[in-house]
Amino acid sequence: MSQNNHYDFAVIGGGMFGSAAARHLGNQGYNVLLFAPKEPLERTSHEGVFASHYDEARITRMLDADEIWSNLAARSINRYEEIQKASGINFHHPSKYLFLAQKDIDSLYENINVAKAHDVNFDLLDSFSLTERMPFLHIAEDEKGLLEPPPAGYVNPRALVRAQLKCALATGVRLENQVVNGLSETNTEVKIKTTSGNQYSVSKVLLTTGVHTNHLLDSPLDLIIKGTMVVFAKLSDDLIEQLSTMPSISHRPANGINTYLLPPVKYPDGYTYVKIGVGNSQRILNSEKEIREWFRYGADDHEKNIAHDSIVNLIPSLHNQPMHFETCAHTETTTGHPYIGMLSNNIGVAVGGNGYGAKSSDEIGRLGATILQEETVDNRLTPCLLTTA
Ligand SMILES: Cc1cc2nc3c(=O)[nH]c(=O)nc-3n(C[C@H](O)[C@H](O)[C@H](O)COP(=O)(O)OP(=O)(O)OC[C@H]3O[C@@H](n4cnc5c(N)ncnc54)[C@H](O)[C@@H]3O)c2cc1C
Repeated sequence: MSQNNHYDFAVIGGGMFGSAAARHLGNQGYNVLLFAPKEPLERTSHEGVFASHYDEARITRMLDADEIWSNLAARSINRYEEIQKASGINFHHPSKYLFLAQKDIDSLYENINVAKAHDVNFDLLDSFSLTERMPFLHIAEDEKGLLEPPPAGYVNPRALVRAQLKCALATGVRLENQVVNGLSETNTEVKIKTTSGNQYSVSKVLLTTGVHTNHLLDSPLDLIIKGTMVVFAKLSDDLIEQLSTMPSISHRPANGINTYLLPPVKYPDGYTYVKIGVGNSQRILNSEKEIREWFRYGADDHEKNIAHDSIVNLIPSLHNQPMHFETCAHTETTTGHPYIGMLSNNIGVAVGGNGYGAKSSDEIGRLGATILQEETVDNRLTPCLLTTA
């Protein structure tokens, strides 16, 4: 602890971006306070905040239609090994990643162009070669795939956060499992109040509070919080074997319903599941109350059916498997890029994973750490404030 209970920096939100920011600041020798509430044990009765990373698998890849996202991912992926080694916690599962799309779709060519410009390895495969390599997938004749080799695959987001926190704590970062409910700023410092009634003062604050960010800001950011659903198909031993070479997949079929799938992953209940999510959810959560209620009890039969039909269509052998559903939410920005920047003299943000920030979280956290030290970042990451007409 610093003298007079005063810190150089506070990071509020110890999820994917905040735990990374805390590690980077700690590595640079700063006096850092990290507010990181624990994952709720029981969602339906939980009164506090939630996170977008309560799961065991998130796709990791460098292929992307957008060069900023591709670069953020590449820089993060390059440090996975270092973080695993320093923490002793494994979170990276290198397998492969498949971008599967209707053959004339623009995003296929955008992915190819970005990959070529940034030396991302991939094979372009037609439906025949895809079916030959992955006979468990039902590929339409007019589809093509971009197959990215390891280190693409998936990361375990809970394990990645644990690894970042372990490294951060080893540098002397102080961890508080408290929820922050108030910030007040003077010219030289920020006072932080928590729901437990404690108060702290720091020179600068980085907000990495995901879906809850606007709850702490007097002038809100232009963020869209989307409630999403994921479906888990439980696998028999035979199916685990049959799908053992399955890559992580993003699917853009001709009918327009985008989905993403994770290969067989063992969950804490001891069972192995294939997970599917529907990419283009339109469910916007408009208030803090709606966000918390969605995490507690959200459900949408229409989206469940889309996810169910999509997974069975792509992997027909799953049609008789037991399935269950879970809710989540993510933070989208109006630019499509994360918002990383200072909002005032002493308060900055690193938010807006847009549904795919997990894989790039170490670099987003690192950039969040740099803005507190008055460095500038790419102006395409500049936060946009909500303007009222
Ligand atoms: C269903 C789903 C699937 C996804 N799949 C992928 C994928 O395959 N690949 C990928 O790269 N990304 C994926 N993502 C996106 C990825 O999980 C997010 O981009 C990432 O978690 C964002 O990190 P974050 O740190 O901004 O937010 P979070 O991980 O949500 O962390 C925010 C933290 O802030 C804390 N917090 C909030 N308010 C307060 C407060 N007032 N005081 C203190 N702490 C607070 C919370 O406790 C939380 O831990 C997916 C997201 C969802 C929902």
